[in-house]
Amino acid sequence: MSAGVIEVANLVGGERAPAAGGTFEKLRPADGTLLCRVARSGAAEVEAAVAAAQAAQPQWAARTPVERGRILRELALALQARREEAAELVAEETGKSLELAAAEADAAVEMAFFVAGEGRRLYGRTTTSAMPNRTVMAVRRPVGVAALIVSFNTPLPNYAWKVFPAVFCGNAAVLKPSEHTPLSAAFFAELSQELLPPGVLNVVQGLGAEAGPPLVESQGVDLVSFTGSAERGRWVNERAGRRLAKVCLELGGKNALVVCDDADLERALEWSLASAFSNAGQRCAAASRLVVFDAVYDEFRERLVAGAADYDTGPLISEASLTRILAALGGVSVLTGGTRLDRPGWWLAPTVVEDAAPDADLSCSELFGPVTILYRVRNLDEAIALVNDSPYGLTSAIHTASIHRALRFAESVQAGVVVVNGGTHGSEPHMGFGGVKQSGTGWREAGVEALDVYTEWQYVNLIVDPAKT
Ligand code: NAD
Repeated sequence: MSAGVIEVANLVGGERAPAAGGTFEKLRPADGTLLCRVARSGAAEVEAAVAAAQAAQPQWAARTPVERGRILRELALALQARREEAAELVAEETGKSLELAAAEADAAVEMAFFVAGEGRRLYGRTTTSAMPNRTVMAVRRPVGVAALIVSFNTPLPNYAWKVFPAVFCGNAAVLKPSEHTPLSAAFFAELSQELLPPGVLNVVQGLGAEAGPPLVESQGVDLVSFTGSAERGRWVNERAGRRLAKVCLELGGKNALVVCDDADLERALEWSLASAFSNAGQRCAAASRLVVFDAVYDEFRERLVAGAADYDTGPLISEASLTRILAALGGVSVLTGGTRLDRPGWWLAPTVVEDAAPDADLSCSELFGPVTILYRVRNLDEAIALVNDSPYGLTSAIHTASIHRALRFAESVQAGVVVVNGGTHGSEPHMGFGGVKQSGTGWREAGVEALDVYTEWQYVNLIVDPAKT
């Protein structure tokens, strides 16, 4: 080991723990240099983490929701106080700007505050019964041990969206961060340890193919909540489904932004650029399809290409990702970009593609990079048909001055999120987020909807006066 390189360990039962399999190297996306070495976990480390979670969960669940909410509020404050430090780690391990990373830290803090507030609610229901002298209460109960597997793209919000509702609801958790973001996960885990009892949150670092499967297949895991690609999600669903575990999947998107002939073109352009290229297009909600009315197509194309050439996207997360995207762009009609930038690290020039058939591979698969495809349509009917002609259905947007067009679009589009005159973007802490078709399996994260993922409903029947039955 060379001197000075950080080694990132797991967190199991409140203790830092190395992995028997040694470490793997994590490189900086911005220049390809070595950032840290990371615990290369496998089945043994996963089982230890699941056992720690199982041991901690009953006592944690026995605390009141108000108390768990109070602890989360303290966690939110602790994260807020160290937002710059968190942002620096994220910027280094992902290559995104400090500004973007700090905004993500703030989003994670907001999620913690939102979930903490549920401590004073966590509402159930009471209902009547066909039988006299009986009342029925529907109460939320924890699921047990939750495996939380997340993507690299916005690491702090990704942890926040799963860990905060999971532990608030009285579950213990094993978080498996992406192999690309070990430092932010270690930071998050250590911050949590200052406030959560040992074993309530455990973190298993490692390569997806080695640390992921034992976690998905562990008999001690009651719920698998996964955010990642549709390909991995399908595998997770099948494997966890074999033992009938509860599975929540939040998957990819091939999101479309429609520009009508009555749109404010300047704003449509700004939102298109930001939606397609921010975070190097590594957003599940990225606008990777721009569907433009014929009447404004040529002008929009010209301005889009000029804007794309100047856009500062940040690097891709890995060499593998860059290679995969360059291969997908082979032989297609590229208006700008499509090439690796001549600098160290994994930089792809912002790319605009034209003339891809709606059923071509490029149109149907998620690239997860700074690549967007332009399509020309004659009217709203054609636009809606094109938007819906996709295996995915996560987010969508339309730019129009017409409320009728906007409402028709919202009514007809197959997507979990619709934005009018804005970007294809995600959610706020109080809004559910998720998609249809291959973008997920029907669950919604964030909002009170997240409580449905991390609790089970139990129906308690009370016979008020036994003498009367
Ligand atoms: P990925 O599917 O490669 O990996 C996701 C996570 O799964 C990582 O932690 C990875 O280590 C782990 N993993 C890999 N193989 C595994 C296996 N066999 N078993 C269990 N876990 C395994 O995805 P990624 O490249 O990290 O993220 C990009 C994808 O995530 C895109 O498809 C994007 O759209 C999606 N995403 C979706 C949302 C959403 O809310 N819908 C949010 C962010 C990202």
